[in-house]
Amino acid sequence: MSEKRTELEELGEFGLIDHLTSMIKPTQASTIKGIGDDAAVIEAGEDYLLISTDMLMEGVHFDLSYTPLKHLGYKAVVVNLSDIYAMNGKPEQITVSLALSNRFSVEAMEELYFGIRAACKVYEVDLVGGDTTTSQSGLGISITAIGRVDKEKVTYRAGAKENELLVVSGDLGGAYMGLQVLEREKAVFKTAPTAQPDLSGNDYILERILKPEARKDVITLLGELDIKPTSMIDISDGLASEAIHLARASNLGVVIYEEKLPLDTVTITRAQEFNLDPTTCAMNGGEDYELLFTIPQGEFERIKGHPDLTVIGHMSDQAVGYQLVTRSGQQIGMKAQGWDALLRKDIG
Ligand code: ADP
Ligand code: MG
Repeated sequence: MSEKRTELEELGEFGLIDHLTSMIKPTQASTIKGIGDDAAVIEAGEDYLLISTDMLMEGVHFDLSYTPLKHLGYKAVVVNLSDIYAMNGKPEQITVSLALSNRFSVEAMEELYFGIRAACKVYEVDLVGGDTTTSQSGLGISITAIGRVDKEKVTYRAGAKENELLVVSGDLGGAYMGLQVLEREKAVFKTAPTAQPDLSGNDYILERILKPEARKDVITLLGELDIKPTSMIDISDGLASEAIHLARASNLGVVIYEEKLPLDTVTITRAQEFNLDPTTCAMNGGEDYELLFTIPQGEFERIKGHPDLTVIGHMSDQAVGYQLVTRSGQQIGMKAQGWDALLRKDIG
């Protein structure tokens, strides 16, 4: 190690991963895809095995003052399964590792596991192991998801072609607005502890942040429509960031149209109340866990008018860069300024 000290902030999350892993090259013939996608892809006979891991830390990824433990357990599983679906795969097992301090009771951990078990049931996965250790403060949950995919169907971040359509499932920005409502009520509670939280009318966006679902249904739908996306990623950090990941992996540019962005009406109303631009919430909010993928133009007819799928743009030549075309026709360069875990200062 040299004398020089570089702050983590200088690289950011993505820069740090690149920096630490750029010299790591797979040596095993069975490693089909190592670092750099939503899940690793491993040779496993007839199919490929998929492995993905994510860690959630108290004070960084969740705030227990407004997050029920059973929802947290559910969400911790879901965010991992989302990465397996993003490979066009089917999750089959998970492992769960916990770091906990004596602040937590047995009953609290039972709540967490209630949520974990509920997610396992809904998504038909088995919990097959894990680890339990102590922490000086706070709760940490690390989950690994293991899945399987037909070799013909595996879908990477790379693989998109110029002029292909960029499609997103569901709607965007809801989780971020849900978070804003929870943070607002937390701030109110701090100044007036007897006040009842005002969460009425916000069910949808609160569910988006507290108890999200992974788009298993969209993977089933794509199978039924006989569509194999040419590239795919799940939206954990925000649309802008993930669209750039797809474009970069495929050595392309990407163009997104503001007027096409799917937004729920509650998301729009709350954003306006908070003086936030709904488009910014959709582009950079993060935690929506929707699927973003590309298909050839010729397959448009198959998804046209489907309520769960929206064409929001297209892939372009690399020279175009990463552009958002606003309602007034202006082009704005997109930045990957999504949910950057290392820089996140708004929670906890
Ligand atoms: P996602 O948002 O889909 O979970 P990430 O942005 O967390 O993906 O990770 C991108 C890629 O980098 C993945 O292939 C992941 O396995 C890999 N990765 C992340 N952190 C590390 C690390 N500390 N060491 C090695 N690989 C890592
Ligand atoms: Mg992912």
